[in-house]
Amino acid sequence: MNLELSKVVNGLKSVADFQFEVTLTDEFLKEINAIDASQFSIQGTVKKVERQLMLSFEYKGIISFECHRCLAEVKLNLSSCVTRELFETLDREDGDEFVILDNGSVDLTPILEEDILLNLPLQILCDEDCKGICPQCGINLNEGNCTCDDQKIDPRLEALKNLFT
Ligand SMILES: [Zn+2]
Ligand SMILES: [Zn+2]
Repeated sequence: MNLELSKVVNGLKSVADFQFEVTLTDEFLKEINAIDASQFSIQGTVKKVERQLMLSFEYKGIISFECHRCLAEVKLNLSSCVTRELFETLDREDGDEFVILDNGSVDLTPILEEDILLNLPLQILCDEDCKGICPQCGINLNEGNCTCDDQKIDPRLEALKNLFT
C-alpha cells in the first residue's frame, strides 16, 4: 500500500493525513504461520518537521492462527501505534529503523507487517490452560479425556521387558 507523499516531501504541505485498508501479503502470513487475516485498517499522518518526515499511524485488524498446542483456530485482535522517521535516501547503517522514500511515496505494508511481528505473542494459545492434543491418540484433551496416560509404556522398557520374559 503506497502512500503518496511528494507534496510533503516538496514542502507544498506540512501534514498529510491518510486512512487505508491494507491487505497483508501472503509471504508475511506464511512467515508468521497465520491461517488467514482480515484487512487491516490504518489511519495516521506524515508530518514534516524541519527536514525530517515523521510517520505515525494506528492500525487494527484480526489474524487467525492455529493454537500451538491443540491446533484450534485462534483469532487475535491486533492493534497498535507505529512511529517511524522517513528518509529520502538510505544513508544510515541501521536501515531497520528507517524507511526509504521511493519517488516520493512510501510502502506502508512492510512497516505494518514489521510492527505486527513485534507485537505477536511468543506462543499463540486458544487458552492459557489449553491441554493440547494427546500425542498418542490425537484426541483434543480440551474436549475429552483419553486413557493413553494409564496405558503408556515406554517402548524401550517394553523391549527390555520382553528380554526378561
Ligand atoms: Zn489450544
Ligand atoms: Zn490419548
